[in-house]
Amino acid sequence: MKADVAVIGAGVFGAWTAWHLRRAGLSVSLFDCYGSANGRASSGGESRIIRMGYGPREIYTRWSIRSLELWRGWIARTDPTLFQPAGALWLAAAGDVFAQETEATLKRCDVPFDRLSEAELSKRFPQFAFAPGSWGIFEPAAGALMARRAVQTLVRSMLGGGLQYYQRIVGLDSGTVLTDKGEIVSARHFVFACGPWLSKLFPDIVGGRIRTSRQEVHFFGVPANRDEFAPPRMPCWIDIGARAYGIPDLECRGFKVALDPHGAEIDPDTEDRYATEESVVATRAFLKERFPMLAQAPLLETRVCQYENTELGDYILDRHPRYENVWIAGGGSGHGFKHGPAVGEYITEMILNRRKADPRFSLESKSTSTMASSGSSFYRQ
Ligand SMILES: Cc1cc2nc3c(=O)[nH]c(=O)nc-3n(C[C@H](O)[C@H](O)[C@H](O)COP(=O)(O)OP(=O)(O)OC[C@H]3O[C@@H](n4cnc5c(N)ncnc54)[C@H](O)[C@@H]3O)c2cc1C
Repeated sequence: MKADVAVIGAGVFGAWTAWHLRRAGLSVSLFDCYGSANGRASSGGESRIIRMGYGPREIYTRWSIRSLELWRGWIARTDPTLFQPAGALWLAAAGDVFAQETEATLKRCDVPFDRLSEAELSKRFPQFAFAPGSWGIFEPAAGALMARRAVQTLVRSMLGGGLQYYQRIVGLDSGTVLTDKGEIVSARHFVFACGPWLSKLFPDIVGGRIRTSRQEVHFFGVPANRDEFAPPRMPCWIDIGARAYGIPDLECRGFKVALDPHGAEIDPDTEDRYATEESVVATRAFLKERFPMLAQAPLLETRVCQYENTELGDYILDRHPRYENVWIAGGGSGHGFKHGPAVGEYITEMILNRRKADPRFSLESKSTSTMASSGSSFYRQ
């Protein structure tokens, strides 16, 4: 049967695109060579922050608001544990421009938040050791999505409606899409939502526009019989100056801490996923400074994932320049998970209404120049 749309890639972008297309009444085939939110995919992590703060980039604040509404609506009907309403705390130094712009955008978009002085921070969050002169923005509506489980649950909920799995798409030749078994995939439209694989699949048009970077995540053991590192006492947090972020102890997995600067380029198919000694040492040094109670905490687990970065962190949501019926959705750049629902809605609308990509999301607007590896997802977005 020829589907209306074949979606290739069942990470958060592909899964939500399939969900919106089906809701619009279209038939969808979904392909993923390793399975949805697999261990190599960017959506395969335990948890991801959803927050509304985005500096001056209001479009992403608005997409967070819309996405949170869609996530919460769907989660309420499936599994309420997939969203942990922990809130999110931004930590800033005095005069930090990005934090001030975040505050202004949140106000403009009517997002509730508390501005906290250093004294208020210390009173409310005694688990932290704040740098002198710090202030904070607390977003009570924010929280953590249980990433891998959420995407896999979403895909499972659609199975039976034409979804196909474990097929690698190897070619797009004169508009024909082939699997690695040599079968032709028939559909009226094709959406390639292949995250960090997009550059490999489309070296000529995506190529240098998306650069993968190695990102290491650490889970530290929390003290026994204490609750200050789990919600509701511990929020998700982003330390702007230290370029670090973390997620509370969820499902007793440990306190998640990561440093955000971009690591070396990696191949998502072949990379071993061992954390480096340097990363563990640097993360522990940060932990000791910001959370003294965890200075000696054991490292329980590490994960190595990758960002798929565009130069300025803006997504690629555009039509293929040579094929009218081929669409590309990717470039999550270390912040795309939360926006899966809004991305899926946007791509669906482009297909249904033959809409052109906004310049921010176009292929054309993305530089192919070599990008600095010291970038960070919070500053740029
Ligand atoms: C460590 C880390 C922390 C992050 N933290 C956050 C956060 O707190 N908040 C947030 O919002 N975002 C965060 N992100 C970013 C977010 O996770 C990603 O932007 C998002 O998951 C990207 O999803 P995707 O669907 O584009 O890609 P992926 O999840 O990688 O999905 C692509 C899929 O395509 C499949 N595929 C590839 N090639 C083929 C092919 N040829 N044929 C068939 N299938 C194919 C793959 O198997 C894969 O499943 C983080 C990312 C990382 C790595």
